[in-house]
Amino acid sequence: MRDGRTFRMFHRETDAGKVTRNRDAIFDLHATSLRWLEDYTGIPYPWGKFDFVLIPSFQFGGMEHAGAIFYNASSVLLEQSATQNQMLNRASVIAHETSHMWFGDLVTMRWFNDVWMKEVMANFMAAKIVNPSFPELNHELRFMLSHYPDAYEVDRTAGTNPIRQQLGNLNEAGSLYGPIIYDKAPVVMRQLERIVGETGFRDGLREYLKKYSFGNATWLDLVAILESQHPGRVAAWSHAWVEERGRPEISTALRLSADGKVATLSISQRDPLGRSIVWPQELQLALGYPGRTELVPVQLEGANTSVAKAGQKQAPLYVLPNGAGLGYGLFILDPATRSYLLRHLESIPDALTRGSAWVDLWENLLEHRIDPSKFLDLAMRALPKETDEQNRERVLGYVSEDFWQWLPADARGVRAPQLESLLRQGISHASTASEKAAWFRTFRNTVLTKEGLEWLERVWRREEKIAGLTLGETDEIEMAQALALREVSDSRQILNTERERIQNPDRKARFEFSMPALSADPVERERSFQRFRDVANRRREPWVLDCLTFLNHPLRRQDALRFIRPSLEMLPEIQRTGDIFFPSRWMAAVLSGHRSTEAAAIVRNFLASNSGMPERLRWIVLTAADSLFRSSAS
Ligand SMILES: [Zn+2]
Repeated sequence: MRDGRTFRMFHRETDAGKVTRNRDAIFDLHATSLRWLEDYTGIPYPWGKFDFVLIPSFQFGGMEHAGAIFYNASSVLLEQSATQNQMLNRASVIAHETSHMWFGDLVTMRWFNDVWMKEVMANFMAAKIVNPSFPELNHELRFMLSHYPDAYEVDRTAGTNPIRQQLGNLNEAGSLYGPIIYDKAPVVMRQLERIVGETGFRDGLREYLKKYSFGNATWLDLVAILESQHPGRVAAWSHAWVEERGRPEISTALRLSADGKVATLSISQRDPLGRSIVWPQELQLALGYPGRTELVPVQLEGANTSVAKAGQKQAPLYVLPNGAGLGYGLFILDPATRSYLLRHLESIPDALTRGSAWVDLWENLLEHRIDPSKFLDLAMRALPKETDEQNRERVLGYVSEDFWQWLPADARGVRAPQLESLLRQGISHASTASEKAAWFRTFRNTVLTKEGLEWLERVWRREEKIAGLTLGETDEIEMAQALALREVSDSRQILNTERERIQNPDRKARFEFSMPALSADPVERERSFQRFRDVANRRREPWVLDCLTFLNHPLRRQDALRFIRPSLEMLPEIQRTGDIFFPSRWMAAVLSGHRSTEAAAIVRNFLASNSGMPERLRWIVLTAADSLFRSSAS
């Protein structure tokens, strides 16, 4: 019972302590979300009963039904080692699904081309709901870090799609979902709220929910309501951001006068897909000075914008076009800014500007404008000084990706001892369990040296404890898998012991399924892959993705070339028989570990010899292959 209302939770978790530890938080999070939504929408909860069902190995984070929400059990029942991010993610998924009771269930899209709308509304509401429960957090930073990098992951690729798409046939509805809807659309929705104002936005939504209660509506119905309240401001903006695909490429040009002041500062935007689209948006230009940054608001309307307000200012050390984490696009950093950031990024005082600089720097690395080895130098120097946990986790993620995807194999070996020692220090100096967990996870993902592996094995064997960090069953499973992938001498025995240790039957079955994919024997790995030709063996999709990730791990990428072509050939069948995210996750799991020119050639040849492939499937391949295409070209 919360607020006089009964909520019911159904689960099949066998670890009673885990349930007890998490139960109150799960009920409270639902009650808080529900109360907030009733207030914001002005409409009481419409469905009477409220249940949540925790499903093991559920392929979605959650799924709304009027009056009952299904969750992936592991996203709401957290381990003791859960990071702050995992706790936030749990609060967000609960707020997201609860929002659907209004956005999706009370008012439903007319047709599936508008599914994005209920998803973005749910995410947008979730951010508003979750923020007050984590007052110690920098929410602007969280919004930026949780949406921009994931949206760019798709929007930077040749396979990207518009937020709102034409959909001829319902059997393609699944392919509409993805980061463009879950991550770009909230960014775009925040722009809309800035255009019409917070109150104007809420009032527009109230009118929309009231007008279409227990009925259907389209995105254009909402645009019409907002356009009538704010004439001329919404329809054209909606076209560029919502109906077209891709992101602008934005560069700045700074000219100084003889006395060292800003003479002119201009911003230009370009459509990398060659359609000459112009994306109207508001930026907060950050001009960097020793110990401080100055924000200059700019409204981008056309292809070129002159920043008059920057004129006569003191020459900045760097120019960051998306200060305050506001702007969306590929921001090409000028050479002076790039080199300043590589040397001094960690000295930027404001966490949001720093986080934004990290994201931009990474995007510039992907454009071959930053040396991956210099990026790693910067990250290793900056990490011990980073005071914001969200930035730290983001940078640790970049370190793993840089290490496996961008550094050549021989450079990895050279850098490993220093990196591991840094990560070990991070684990022991961290002040909270969640911070320790983040350092530890990166260590486990990147460890290569003999000493590092011996230490990890001692931790896995429970011979050595990490002070202040309790490792649960899931952690031990992941350690065993990491050790097996690195083919430590007793890896087969480690896997067998781990199987015996696992108490939870669902986790045990999933682990057993993954064992052949972890084998040091290539023949056994081949059999593991061949299983997936039978649809019955693809029924538990997260299990399949585990295996594909292990089979194609960077340490085995040369041997795994043989899996690429058959995986591509199976894609149409995967789409026919699998759930909505499966085709893109299947492709991503196969290609994520590869970076060789041979791997890139296999994908290109496949695309060339299958020119009749449906456009959406082609987009899925192009998106999954983007990182491979970029890194193999370096
Ligand atoms: Zn949803």
